[in-house]
Amino acid sequence: MKKPVILGHTLALLFLLNSCATNPVTGKKEVMLVSEGQELAMGQQSDPSVINQFGLYPDQKIQSFINDKGKKMGAVSHRANINYQFRVVDSPIINAFAVPGGYVYFTRGIMAHFNNEAQFAGVLGHEIGHVTARHSAKQQTNAILGQVGLMGAMIASPRLAQFGDQASQGMQLLFLKFGRDDESQSDELGVQYSSQIGYDAAQMADFFRTLQRQQEQSSAEPVPDFLSTHPNPADRYERVHQLAAQWKQQNGSATTKLAVNRDQYLRLIDGIVYGEDPKQGFVEGNAFYHPELKFRLPVPSGWKHQNTPQQFQMADPAGKALLMLASAPGASLDEAAQAIVKQFSLQPSDSKRVTVNGFPALAFVADQVQQDQQTGQQVAGVRVLSYLIQDGKSIFMLLGAAAPADFNTYVSTFTSTMEGFARLTDLSKLNRQPERVRIKTTKTSTTLSQALKANGIPEKRMEEMAILNGMQLSDRLGAGMLYKVVGK
Ligand SMILES: [Zn+2]
Repeated sequence: MKKPVILGHTLALLFLLNSCATNPVTGKKEVMLVSEGQELAMGQQSDPSVINQFGLYPDQKIQSFINDKGKKMGAVSHRANINYQFRVVDSPIINAFAVPGGYVYFTRGIMAHFNNEAQFAGVLGHEIGHVTARHSAKQQTNAILGQVGLMGAMIASPRLAQFGDQASQGMQLLFLKFGRDDESQSDELGVQYSSQIGYDAAQMADFFRTLQRQQEQSSAEPVPDFLSTHPNPADRYERVHQLAAQWKQQNGSATTKLAVNRDQYLRLIDGIVYGEDPKQGFVEGNAFYHPELKFRLPVPSGWKHQNTPQQFQMADPAGKALLMLASAPGASLDEAAQAIVKQFSLQPSDSKRVTVNGFPALAFVADQVQQDQQTGQQVAGVRVLSYLIQDGKSIFMLLGAAAPADFNTYVSTFTSTMEGFARLTDLSKLNRQPERVRIKTTKTSTTLSQALKANGIPEKRMEEMAILNGMQLSDRLGAGMLYKVVGK
């Protein structure tokens, strides 16, 4: 959960106008759903909400690197006139995505998983390709919660799931999807552009392997852009290899200089944050701790939980109740209550002022009225108990939701959880540090497995580290070779 929350929903409305234009990549006339001006407007409008949701990864060296390579590549692309913007966002998810208008985002998660500059450049070319070929992104809002995990899997009632969906909007920016042909064309452009700025494009294919392995290892992870619309990553691996070889053949002498730059890249990302960053909140034992916002909240025993930049969500094991915590809009408790009532179309039935462990708070019960699909009548679809809690200038929204028939079963759990919200003072939690990628050098020839063990990597994390290194555990490392481990 991140501090500032402004929900972005700017992309959906802009796909309406048709016009005919020449595609910059194919040179063919085609119907354009969006004009160039509209594209730019989309990028400009969604950029602040992307940054606000995820935050920029605070490392100037890495931001400069992506910006330098990106501008260089943009200049040799089919749309050199665009003012491209490149950003590394502070998310552990492994993904890269482009928004029309030339806005390209990489997560710190994907930056940690590249093993050389050429892999990075291939993916950069792929994303710039979506922009230059004017692929129109379709939002897959229905699929989002299923992909993210908890809500889709945990919530039994469609009405409750819909409610959770409503509360989670904003996540969709990471899950723009392109069609299969568009992905294919972007692979081709990725090969071309990365080769043109001097990188060995075959490396991009190797990175698909890394993504595939990572995917297989953690089924709960969202599907990255690169794999989302490709049922057969093996074909894609072959194809990118072929395209890279073709490019080398056609461009003869230039290819002797194609760079991979493994050591340079690994030095660049030495120290990059790996996995969840505890400063954005973490669960330990039966509590959720937020060191940056300095509070703690109990987690009901046995409940599932998920932490996203927008909110911290919990669901009971039966999938019949949902409890979430997020920053609330407004300068006062009353303002926040009004905004939430409006946002979720709630009809409050009861409210009272309370104090929660010294914090001023406002508690209310409300129904979300929905239309019954069969009878067409207005019915109470979801009943909520909400506690709004004020901490200085910040207001937090705690919201428990269940079907009206189940509400009484859960109301005491909702109440005791929300009233357990308290100031975090435990220094060991406040000062919790994230894991980081550390670059090590082998002293003598060894295997990856031995090198990892020598750094105290436990057995259960060996495969994860092999994927991070883009290697097999049995692979040999020569003396003086760099490799990645993770540690505090
Ligand atoms: Zn793509």
